[in-house]
Amino acid sequence: MPLPPTFEVRLTEKRQLSPAVRELTFERQDGAPFAFEAGQWISLILPREDGEIRRSYSIASPPTTTSSFQLAITHVQGGPGSTYLHDLTPGSTLRAVGPQGFFTRPLDKTGPSLFVATGTGVTPLRSMMHAAKAAGHTLPMWLVFGVRHEDDILYRDEFEALAREHTNIRFEPTLSRGSEMWGGRRGYVQTHIPELWSELAGLGLGVPHTYICGLKRMVSTVRDLLRKELNATREQVHSERYD
Ligand SMILES: Cc1cc2nc3c(=O)[nH]c(=O)nc-3n(C[C@H](O)[C@H](O)[C@H](O)COP(=O)(O)OP(=O)(O)OC[C@H]3O[C@@H](n4cnc5c(N)ncnc54)[C@H](O)[C@@H]3O)c2cc1C
Repeated sequence: MPLPPTFEVRLTEKRQLSPAVRELTFERQDGAPFAFEAGQWISLILPREDGEIRRSYSIASPPTTTSSFQLAITHVQGGPGSTYLHDLTPGSTLRAVGPQGFFTRPLDKTGPSLFVATGTGVTPLRSMMHAAKAAGHTLPMWLVFGVRHEDDILYRDEFEALAREHTNIRFEPTLSRGSEMWGGRRGYVQTHIPELWSELAGLGLGVPHTYICGLKRMVSTVRDLLRKELNATREQVHSERYD
């Protein structure tokens, strides 16, 4: 398989999405379109005094014909890569490698979909949702999104608007440490999977698929639940791990 291309990118915009997460918008320095499939990631090469390091990030925006794309980065306390990127100033340039990865959702091979994410694991699913919408794909896409507190819900307004405007889209945030004021779902994502998976399968709209993204512990728990208890096949379960 050929190596993915290396190219230079420039940071054009920075936006705080939650207390710990910043969205960074980059564009290719050469102005060429950046082609990728929704769900893929890129590596950024970060210069440091003791040598460069590479860190991977899912592309949060959907494919377009432009040179620009977005990433959403959680600040990990003491983490060199995420700290470097949170401190990066607009106008700075970096080398990038990509796109890479097979966590994609070809629209001719998928079915009604349950998207399961925690934290910035929601970004490839955001890209998939917008890509499906742009292609006029109307099979159900239900997103179960787990975070601790209400202000950690990334892209909340956007997901709520998508769910309001499209009957095939459902947005189900769940909080593990929600305040008393929170009227939505509570607990870890896995608490809600059996109910939503059965409902999706019962719609009679085809074989359901699930797309899971986040840290290893959550991804393994949800995969095991689907495969061992809910009888999902290997082909129905797609996942990406960040650690
Ligand atoms: C395919 C892929 C896609 C990824 N996409 C994203 C993304 O879109 N956004 C993003 O923020 N990170 C993403 N990551 C994680 C990212 O590559 C780095 O691991 C992360 O930024 C931490 O790097 P660091 O140098 O700051 O800390 P390190 O010292 O390298 O890592 C410290 C610890 O941080 C934990 N960690 C890693 N990622 C996260 C996270 N997102 N949230 C909480 N804890 C984490 C891990 O358990 C790790 O052990 C992705 C990783 C992979 C493999």
